[in-house]
Amino acid sequence: MDFDLPDEHRMIRDEVRRFCEEEIEPIAQEIEDEHRYPAEVFDQLGQLDMMGVPISEEYGGLGGDQLMYALVCEELGRVSGSVGLSYAAHVSLASKPIELFGTEDQKERWLRPLAEGEYVGGWALTEPGSGSDASDMDTTAEKVERAGGHAGDEWVLNGTKQFITNASEAGSVLVKAVTEPGAGYGGISTFVVDPRNDDGFEVTTVWDKMGLNASPTCEVQLDDVRIPEDRLLGEAGEGWDQTKKTLNGGRISIAALSVGLAQGAYEHAREYAKEREQFGQPISKFDAIRNKITAMERKTERARLLTHKSAWQYDQGRDVTTSSSLAKWDASEAAREVAEDAVQVLGGYGYTEDFAPQRFYRDAKLMEIGEGTSEIQQLVIGRELGL
Ligand SMILES: Cc1cc2nc3c(=O)[nH]c(=O)nc-3n(C[C@H](O)[C@H](O)[C@H](O)COP(=O)(O)OP(=O)(O)OC[C@H]3O[C@@H](n4cnc5c(N)ncnc54)[C@H](O)[C@@H]3O)c2cc1C
Repeated sequence: MDFDLPDEHRMIRDEVRRFCEEEIEPIAQEIEDEHRYPAEVFDQLGQLDMMGVPISEEYGGLGGDQLMYALVCEELGRVSGSVGLSYAAHVSLASKPIELFGTEDQKERWLRPLAEGEYVGGWALTEPGSGSDASDMDTTAEKVERAGGHAGDEWVLNGTKQFITNASEAGSVLVKAVTEPGAGYGGISTFVVDPRNDDGFEVTTVWDKMGLNASPTCEVQLDDVRIPEDRLLGEAGEGWDQTKKTLNGGRISIAALSVGLAQGAYEHAREYAKEREQFGQPISKFDAIRNKITAMERKTERARLLTHKSAWQYDQGRDVTTSSSLAKWDASEAAREVAEDAVQVLGGYGYTEDFAPQRFYRDAKLMEIGEGTSEIQQLVIGRELGL
């Protein structure tokens, strides 16, 4: 489907694809088995200028658009869901909001190192008691006078955040907290927390999961974390509005990552079916197998089109609430279905860890849950349709 891609986009995609095949694919199962976050891969992605693809060059990014960023997510997903998820969280959730809502000083101090790949970032919205209904959070941020007779105020954060991607590796985490209790959506604010230097920030659990184990998913405790006034992102009370805007872009990246997972699983199944012989012929010659593979092509291509359309709309400055939810819902379902069928096409070998489809299958399931479950995407689409 290259006909619609500008040359620059195709160049970046090909460069990332080469890197993925040479550096990530060979270790993809190993890092999953070892539950190891591959820091070296993110360093290399930084050297390739890929850690801030849709971030302006002024702040150390590549200055690309959302479509270019989606292509990079897709390529990472084609070889490793874990690398793709940590990458997407770093860019869409941890970096982009600083560019969109931060002051000049915040962009210099917090966005530049993220975009240049000095370290990865995280984004903490979910809590043990609030997931889909994310605004019903318990974490608080209270403004107090700075201790020790220093001028100015500071914020004190308290609470627990759940399932935070990259928190154990991050150089900054954007934390959502209630600054005005009882004010609902308008009482939530966003803070930049420095996990390595702010006292009271602790990763209490790194979860073992059914897949994506090379991407750390953390429970985080915030215990009287005192941070200076200038760590507030935007104005107090803007946190929920920022969240909605952030997730609109984020869902495009999860859709793109899902397209990559589907593409990877599909390619494995297609090649295997051409090689594997039963009853004296390649199994691809059996209608049942051929139909599975043609359906994989249909679902992957459909999901890709929806994803690219939403990315394109984003780049035009249009509202992508509906299109990003549609793309994420469709692509995540496609990834799970395609990966499941890929396991089936490989038969017994598909069930072993020597072959990749089982990993795509396990990784794909998360795409229907993270950044809003499929049920929540349908809720959003229904609301946008006035239903
Ligand atoms: C690997 C991983 C990485 C993650 N990374 C991050 C991260 O970096 N930052 C972050 O903040 N969060 C992160 N999350 C959290 C993720 O966004 C939430 O898990 C997700 O939004 C669902 O919330 P929940 O788990 O509390 O499920 P719940 O909200 O409890 O939902 C349980 C079930 O009820 C359904 N449901 C809930 N409400 C409705 C409704 N109104 N209508 C119909 N059905 C409904 C859901 O669809 C789901 O099927 C991550 C999660 C995982 C597993």
